[in-house]
Amino acid sequence: MPAELICFEPSCRATYPLNEVIYNCPKCGGLLEVKYPAPTQSAAELKKIFRERRMSNAKLDQSGVWRYRELFNFADDPETQVVTLREGNTPLLEAPRAAKYGGLDKVVFKHQGFNPTGSFKDNGMTCGATQARRLGMKRVACVSTGNTSASMAAYAAAGGLDPIIFIPHGNISYGKLAQALEYGAKTLQVEANFDQILALVRVLSEKMGIYLLNSINPFRIEGQKSIAIEMMDQRDWQVPDWIVLPGGNLGNVSALGKGLREMHEQGFIDKLPKLAVVQAEGAAPFYSYMKDQSAFVAVHHPETLATAIKIGDPVSWPKALLEITTSGGVVERVTEQEIADAKAVIGASGIGCEPASAATLAGIKKLTAAGVIAHDADVVAVLTGNVLKDPDYIYKYHTGQLDDPHGKRLTSSFGNAPIVVPNDPEKIAALLG
Ligand SMILES: *Cc1c(COP(=O)(O)O)cnc(C)c1O
Ligand SMILES: [Zn+2]
Repeated sequence: MPAELICFEPSCRATYPLNEVIYNCPKCGGLLEVKYPAPTQSAAELKKIFRERRMSNAKLDQSGVWRYRELFNFADDPETQVVTLREGNTPLLEAPRAAKYGGLDKVVFKHQGFNPTGSFKDNGMTCGATQARRLGMKRVACVSTGNTSASMAAYAAAGGLDPIIFIPHGNISYGKLAQALEYGAKTLQVEANFDQILALVRVLSEKMGIYLLNSINPFRIEGQKSIAIEMMDQRDWQVPDWIVLPGGNLGNVSALGKGLREMHEQGFIDKLPKLAVVQAEGAAPFYSYMKDQSAFVAVHHPETLATAIKIGDPVSWPKALLEITTSGGVVERVTEQEIADAKAVIGASGIGCEPASAATLAGIKKLTAAGVIAHDADVVAVLTGNVLKDPDYIYKYHTGQLDDPHGKRLTSSFGNAPIVVPNDPEKIAALLG
């Protein structure tokens, strides 16, 4: 039985060939996922192969995603099909200062900001772009103002595909948009909101044979599984108690959860870590849903300065629900102030990250205080994006000018403003003490 697409809805589970260009189940509208036959090698054999590949100069082995290709074996001819910028290979970083702030003895950050375009979107996009090439598509598109467009633009360019980006007019995040322009993406600003544009792009994609690379695309999820696989490889397959990550569209928690479940089923790891997803207070529909246990209700006007998680109607919530439930995990939400302060603490650890990523440490602080995460727990937090993605936010925080989405000034608890000094050694020496 070859790999195939399968409907995620338990009541449907219809299957489709891998080469069908669909993003939802044509029968029931459910999400799709990729299902594989189990690898032919044992977990022990594969662990050895994965480790040996770190010594290799071959492009597939050097990628921190494709090194683990047996666990998402959808490309029939990886040598010619794969589009790689040597993504993944992101470090595990210890941060004692951040641990103390979060109420933990120890915390380790898996820093996805070390990726080629500075976010974990690259882990998924290498697979999405590869599938586009397998399908013989010439053009790829996404709706985004952020990291997805930066990543898609880079991988499309590297893979000889034409990238088209749709962004809501007047809702631009310059650091990330700048990357997309530099990588040569055709960028269209539409007078509509994110959800309306997504609907528009779905119609256009079908009509014009453009391949859609939003996170609804199941092949992006497959690539993001590698974040969990590489993490386990780096830990010699020792499972942490908790993995904490920010949640927007909830594709990443779905990917990590799927990767961990598959590794567990195939004997790579002996238990599942608990997953904790942290949302921003103004964009926390999944938090509300898990708390109230009623119907899922979208947030119509999501608000947060952490633009990467400013999502009111997350497409992947049914998958995320399965992963949180299966792992015995939790969903937390944090305020703008909590995100801003946690971010400065991560920065002061010499690590740094973009605002959405800092929701992890802010969430850990709350979860340890509530006794949900024990102070001596083994915790890995996923920092999703690079510190330079949003310099405007950083400058405003450190100079006491950061306002929340309602215009309320945030407190720069760990502010570090530049100091203007006269050209005078005496005075500067006095100042420096
Ligand atoms: C995309 C993104 C997220 C949110 O991930 P989802 O899969 O949408 O939940 C968080 N942080 C950063 C930096 C991102 O780029
Ligand atoms: Zn279905």
